[in-house]
Amino acid sequence: MAAASLEVREVSVGYGPVRALNAVSVDVPEGAVVAVLGGNGAGKTTLLRAISRTLRFHGGTIGSGSVVFAGRRLDGLTPDRVVAAGVVQVPEGRQVFARMTVADNLRAGALGAGGGRRAVAEARSRVHDLFPVLAERAHQRAGLLSGGEQQMLAMGRALMARPRLLLLDEPSLGLAPLMAERIAETVREINAQGTSVLLVEQNAAVALRLASKAFVLEVGEVALAGPADELAASDEVRRRYLGIADDPAPGSASAAPAPVPALRRWSA
Ligand code: ATP
Repeated sequence: MAAASLEVREVSVGYGPVRALNAVSVDVPEGAVVAVLGGNGAGKTTLLRAISRTLRFHGGTIGSGSVVFAGRRLDGLTPDRVVAAGVVQVPEGRQVFARMTVADNLRAGALGAGGGRRAVAEARSRVHDLFPVLAERAHQRAGLLSGGEQQMLAMGRALMARPRLLLLDEPSLGLAPLMAERIAETVREINAQGTSVLLVEQNAAVALRLASKAFVLEVGEVALAGPADELAASDEVRRRYLGIADDPAPGSASAAPAPVPALRRWSA
Protein backbone atom coordinates (compact mmCIF):
# COMPACT_ATOMS: atom_id res chain seq x y z
CA MET A 1 0.00 0.00 0.00
CA ALA A 2 1.33 3.48 -0.89
CA ALA A 3 2.25 5.79 2.01
CA ALA A 4 -0.91 7.56 3.15
CA SER A 5 0.43 11.05 2.61
CA LEU A 6 -1.65 13.90 1.27
CA GLU A 7 -0.30 16.41 -1.25
CA VAL A 8 -2.39 19.43 -2.12
CA ARG A 9 -0.69 21.25 -4.98
CA GLU A 10 -1.45 24.79 -6.12
CA VAL A 11 -5.18 24.43 -5.61
CA SER A 12 -7.40 27.37 -6.54
CA VAL A 13 -11.09 27.41 -5.66
CA GLY A 14 -13.95 29.75 -6.47
CA TYR A 15 -17.57 30.06 -5.41
CA GLY A 16 -18.94 31.63 -8.58
CA PRO A 17 -17.08 34.94 -8.85
CA VAL A 18 -15.65 34.67 -5.31
CA ARG A 19 -12.03 33.44 -5.30
CA ALA A 20 -11.64 31.55 -2.00
CA LEU A 21 -8.27 29.79 -2.48
CA ASN A 22 -5.38 30.88 -4.65
CA ALA A 23 -2.68 28.30 -5.53
CA VAL A 24 -2.66 26.69 -2.07
CA SER A 25 -0.20 23.85 -1.40
CA VAL A 26 -0.34 21.79 1.79
CA ASP A 27 1.22 18.46 2.78
CA VAL A 28 0.23 15.92 5.41
CA PRO A 29 2.87 13.21 5.80
CA GLU A 30 1.63 9.76 6.81
CA GLY A 31 1.03 9.57 10.57
CA ALA A 32 1.25 13.34 11.15
CA VAL A 33 -1.05 15.92 12.70
CA VAL A 34 -0.92 19.04 10.53
CA ALA A 35 -2.76 22.24 11.48
CA VAL A 36 -4.27 24.89 9.24
CA LEU A 37 -4.72 28.21 10.99
CA GLY A 38 -6.23 31.48 9.88
CA GLY A 39 -8.90 34.02 10.65
CA ASN A 40 -12.54 34.07 9.54
CA GLY A 41 -12.94 33.65 5.80
CA ALA A 42 -9.28 32.74 5.23
CA GLY A 43 -10.31 29.61 3.29
CA LYS A 44 -9.72 26.85 5.85
CA THR A 45 -13.08 25.11 5.41
CA THR A 46 -12.82 25.54 1.64
CA LEU A 47 -9.49 23.69 1.69
CA LEU A 48 -11.09 20.72 3.49
CA ARG A 49 -14.00 20.75 1.04
CA ALA A 50 -11.57 20.72 -1.88
CA ILE A 51 -9.88 17.63 -0.44
CA SER A 52 -13.11 15.78 0.43
CA ARG A 53 -14.68 16.75 -2.93
CA THR A 54 -17.71 18.28 -1.20
CA LEU A 55 -17.19 21.75 -2.70
CA ARG A 56 -19.97 21.41 -5.20
CA PHE A 57 -22.56 20.95 -2.43
CA HIS A 58 -21.65 24.53 -1.52
CA GLY A 59 -21.51 25.96 -5.03
CA GLY A 60 -17.71 25.84 -5.25
CA THR A 61 -15.36 24.47 -7.92
CA ILE A 62 -11.64 23.74 -8.15
CA GLY A 63 -10.21 25.91 -10.92
CA SER A 64 -6.73 24.41 -10.98
CA GLY A 65 -4.31 22.30 -8.98
CA SER A 66 -4.28 18.71 -7.77
CA VAL A 67 -4.99 16.67 -4.64
CA VAL A 68 -3.14 13.38 -4.27
CA PHE A 69 -3.60 10.90 -1.43
CA ALA A 70 -1.61 7.69 -1.10
CA GLY A 71 -0.35 8.17 -4.65
CA ARG A 72 -3.83 8.59 -6.11
CA ARG A 73 -5.55 11.69 -7.49
CA LEU A 74 -8.63 12.57 -5.41
CA ASP A 75 -9.73 15.50 -7.56
CA GLY A 76 -12.09 13.93 -10.06
CA LEU A 77 -13.48 11.39 -7.59
CA THR A 78 -16.97 11.59 -6.09
CA PRO A 79 -17.16 12.29 -2.33
CA ASP A 80 -18.06 8.68 -1.50
CA ARG A 81 -15.00 7.47 -3.44
CA VAL A 82 -12.83 9.85 -1.42
CA VAL A 83 -14.20 8.21 1.76
CA ALA A 84 -13.51 4.78 0.28
CA ALA A 85 -9.96 5.97 -0.47
CA GLY A 86 -9.49 6.61 3.26
CA VAL A 87 -10.06 10.36 3.62
CA VAL A 88 -12.99 11.39 5.82
CA GLN A 89 -14.09 14.88 6.84
CA VAL A 90 -15.75 15.90 10.09
CA PRO A 91 -17.52 19.12 9.07
CA GLU A 92 -17.68 22.22 11.23
CA GLY A 93 -20.66 22.62 13.53
CA ARG A 94 -21.15 19.16 15.05
CA GLN A 95 -23.36 17.87 12.28
CA VAL A 96 -25.17 14.79 13.54
CA PHE A 97 -28.49 13.26 12.51
CA ALA A 98 -30.41 14.71 15.44
CA ARG A 99 -33.50 12.49 15.15
CA MET A 100 -31.53 9.28 14.79
CA THR A 101 -30.07 7.38 17.73
CA VAL A 102 -26.39 7.58 18.56
CA ALA A 103 -25.99 3.96 17.43
CA ASP A 104 -27.67 4.68 14.08
CA ASN A 105 -25.48 7.74 13.55
CA LEU A 106 -22.43 5.51 13.98
CA ARG A 107 -23.92 2.88 11.69
CA ALA A 108 -24.43 5.55 9.02
CA GLY A 109 -20.74 6.43 9.25
CA ALA A 110 -19.79 2.91 8.25
CA LEU A 111 -21.92 2.96 5.08
CA GLY A 112 -19.91 3.27 1.93
CA ALA A 113 -16.59 2.51 3.58
CA GLY A 114 -16.66 -1.16 2.58
CA GLY A 115 -15.57 -3.94 4.92
CA GLY A 116 -17.64 -6.67 6.51
CA ARG A 117 -19.41 -6.95 9.87
CA ARG A 118 -16.18 -7.67 11.65
CA ALA A 119 -14.53 -4.48 10.37
CA VAL A 120 -17.60 -2.46 11.41
CA ALA A 121 -17.64 -4.07 14.88
CA GLU A 122 -13.94 -3.30 15.31
CA ALA A 123 -14.47 0.32 14.26
CA ARG A 124 -17.39 0.63 16.70
CA SER A 125 -15.37 -0.77 19.54
CA ARG A 126 -12.56 1.70 18.78
CA VAL A 127 -15.10 4.55 18.84
CA HIS A 128 -16.60 3.32 22.12
CA ASP A 129 -13.12 3.07 23.68
CA LEU A 130 -12.34 6.64 22.61
CA PHE A 131 -15.77 7.99 23.59
CA PRO A 132 -17.40 5.74 26.25
CA VAL A 133 -20.36 8.12 26.46
CA LEU A 134 -21.40 7.05 22.94
CA ALA A 135 -21.81 3.47 24.19
CA GLU A 136 -23.71 4.61 27.30
CA ARG A 137 -26.10 6.75 25.23
CA ALA A 138 -26.29 4.42 22.21
CA HIS A 139 -30.09 4.29 22.14
CA GLN A 140 -30.79 7.96 22.75
CA ARG A 141 -31.48 10.44 20.02
CA ALA A 142 -28.36 12.32 18.97
CA GLY A 143 -30.20 15.64 19.29
CA LEU A 144 -30.37 15.13 23.07
CA LEU A 145 -26.59 15.02 23.49
CA SER A 146 -24.65 18.04 24.75
CA GLY A 147 -22.60 20.08 22.29
CA GLY A 148 -19.38 18.35 23.31
CA GLU A 149 -20.99 14.91 23.05
CA GLN A 150 -22.33 15.77 19.59
CA GLN A 151 -18.78 16.70 18.55
CA MET A 152 -17.65 13.30 19.85
CA LEU A 153 -20.42 11.63 17.84
CA ALA A 154 -19.47 13.55 14.67
CA MET A 155 -15.87 12.39 15.11
CA GLY A 156 -16.98 8.86 16.02
CA ARG A 157 -19.15 8.66 12.92
CA ALA A 158 -16.18 9.66 10.75
CA LEU A 159 -14.00 7.02 12.45
CA MET A 160 -16.60 4.35 11.59
CA ALA A 161 -15.42 4.76 7.98
CA ARG A 162 -11.93 3.70 9.17
CA PRO A 163 -10.09 6.69 7.70
CA ARG A 164 -6.35 6.78 7.12
CA LEU A 165 -6.61 10.58 7.11
CA LEU A 166 -9.16 12.50 9.19
CA LEU A 167 -10.07 16.07 8.14
CA LEU A 168 -11.24 17.93 11.26
CA ASP A 169 -12.94 21.31 10.92
CA GLU A 170 -12.77 23.37 14.13
CA PRO A 171 -13.59 20.55 16.56
CA SER A 172 -13.29 22.80 19.61
CA LEU A 173 -15.46 25.63 18.26
CA GLY A 174 -18.00 26.79 20.84
CA LEU A 175 -17.02 24.22 23.46
CA ALA A 176 -16.15 25.01 27.07
CA PRO A 177 -12.39 24.90 27.73
CA LEU A 178 -12.50 21.58 29.57
CA MET A 179 -14.43 19.89 26.77
CA ALA A 180 -12.15 21.45 24.13
CA GLU A 181 -9.19 20.00 26.04
CA ARG A 182 -10.81 16.54 26.07
CA ILE A 183 -11.42 16.72 22.34
CA ALA A 184 -7.77 17.72 21.82
CA GLU A 185 -6.62 14.76 23.92
CA THR A 186 -8.76 12.46 21.80
CA VAL A 187 -7.31 13.85 18.58
CA ARG A 188 -3.88 12.99 19.98
CA GLU A 189 -5.06 9.46 20.79
CA ILE A 190 -6.68 8.96 17.37
CA ASN A 191 -3.38 9.99 15.79
CA ALA A 192 -1.38 7.71 18.10
CA GLN A 193 -3.55 4.84 16.85
CA GLY A 194 -2.24 5.47 13.33
CA THR A 195 -4.68 7.94 11.73
CA SER A 196 -3.19 11.08 10.16
CA VAL A 197 -5.04 14.31 10.93
CA LEU A 198 -5.46 17.59 9.06
CA LEU A 199 -6.81 19.93 11.71
CA VAL A 200 -8.43 23.27 10.94
CA GLU A 201 -8.58 25.48 14.01
CA GLN A 202 -9.09 29.08 14.99
CA ASN A 203 -7.81 28.05 18.42
CA ALA A 204 -4.16 28.29 17.42
CA ALA A 205 -2.86 27.46 20.90
CA VAL A 206 -4.57 24.05 20.88
CA ALA A 207 -3.72 23.33 17.25
CA LEU A 208 -0.02 24.17 17.57
CA ARG A 209 0.29 21.89 20.59
CA LEU A 210 -1.23 18.96 18.70
CA ALA A 211 0.43 19.44 15.33
CA SER A 212 3.98 18.82 14.17
CA LYS A 213 3.58 21.23 11.27
CA ALA A 214 1.23 24.10 10.50
CA PHE A 215 0.11 26.31 7.65
CA VAL A 216 -1.36 29.77 8.11
CA LEU A 217 -3.91 30.86 5.52
CA GLU A 218 -4.62 34.51 4.84
CA VAL A 219 -7.25 35.56 2.30
CA GLY A 220 -7.02 32.28 0.44
CA GLU A 221 -3.24 32.00 0.34
CA VAL A 222 -0.60 30.25 2.45
CA ALA A 223 1.06 33.11 4.30
CA LEU A 224 3.29 31.08 6.64
CA ALA A 225 4.27 27.44 6.93
CA GLY A 226 6.68 25.56 9.14
CA PRO A 227 7.18 23.28 12.13
CA ALA A 228 4.46 23.94 14.73
CA ASP A 229 6.88 24.71 17.57
CA GLU A 230 8.67 27.31 15.46
CA LEU A 231 5.40 28.90 14.36
CA ALA A 232 4.27 28.99 18.00
CA ALA A 233 7.47 30.89 18.82
CA SER A 234 7.18 33.39 15.98
CA ASP A 235 6.19 36.91 16.97
CA GLU A 236 3.75 37.22 14.10
CA VAL A 237 1.83 34.07 15.05
CA ARG A 238 1.96 34.89 18.76
CA ARG A 239 0.58 38.36 18.15
CA ARG A 240 -2.03 37.53 15.54
CA TYR A 241 -3.21 34.05 16.45
CA LEU A 242 -2.23 33.42 20.06
CA GLY A 243 -3.24 36.83 21.39
CA ILE A 244 0.16 37.34 23.00
CA ALA A 245 1.68 40.81 22.73
CA ASP A 246 5.33 40.78 21.73
CA ASP A 247 6.03 43.79 23.86
CA PRO A 248 8.25 42.35 26.58
CA ALA A 249 8.56 43.91 30.01
CA PRO A 250 11.30 46.56 30.17
CA GLY A 251 14.63 44.95 30.86
CA SER A 252 13.31 41.50 30.05
CA ALA A 253 15.93 39.10 28.72
CA SER A 254 13.49 37.90 26.07
CA ALA A 255 13.33 41.30 24.38
CA ALA A 256 15.05 40.06 21.22
CA PRO A 257 12.68 38.04 19.03
CA ALA A 258 13.77 34.46 18.50
CA PRO A 259 14.83 33.78 14.92
CA VAL A 260 12.61 31.31 13.10
CA PRO A 261 14.72 30.24 10.14
CA ALA A 262 12.52 27.34 9.03
CA LEU A 263 9.45 29.50 8.51
CA ARG A 264 8.74 30.37 4.95
CA ARG A 265 6.98 33.56 4.03
CA TRP A 266 5.04 32.80 0.91
CA SER A 267 4.59 35.31 -1.81
CA ALA A 268 1.61 35.18 -4.13
P1 ATP B 1 -14.28 30.47 9.17
O1 ATP B 1 -13.18 30.26 10.15
O2 ATP B 1 -15.05 31.72 9.39
O3 ATP B 1 -15.14 29.26 9.00
P2 ATP B 1 -12.72 29.80 6.81
O4 ATP B 1 -11.27 30.12 6.94
O5 ATP B 1 -13.11 28.38 7.01
O6 ATP B 1 -13.57 30.76 7.74
P3 ATP B 1 -14.11 29.62 4.30
O7 ATP B 1 -15.41 29.25 4.94
O8 ATP B 1 -13.38 28.57 3.58
O9 ATP B 1 -13.14 30.31 5.36
O10 ATP B 1 -14.40 30.85 3.33
C1 ATP B 1 -13.43 31.37 2.42
C2 ATP B 1 -14.10 32.42 1.52
O11 ATP B 1 -15.06 31.80 0.69
C3 ATP B 1 -14.83 33.50 2.29
O12 ATP B 1 -14.68 34.69 1.58
C4 ATP B 1 -16.27 33.04 2.27
O13 ATP B 1 -17.15 34.12 2.34
C5 ATP B 1 -16.35 32.36 0.91
N1 ATP B 1 -17.33 31.25 0.93
C6 ATP B 1 -17.33 30.16 1.73
N2 ATP B 1 -18.37 29.35 1.44
C7 ATP B 1 -19.03 29.94 0.45
C8 ATP B 1 -20.20 29.58 -0.30
N3 ATP B 1 -20.87 28.44 -0.07
N4 ATP B 1 -20.62 30.44 -1.27
C9 ATP B 1 -19.95 31.59 -1.52
N5 ATP B 1 -18.84 31.98 -0.86
C10 ATP B 1 -18.39 31.17 0.11
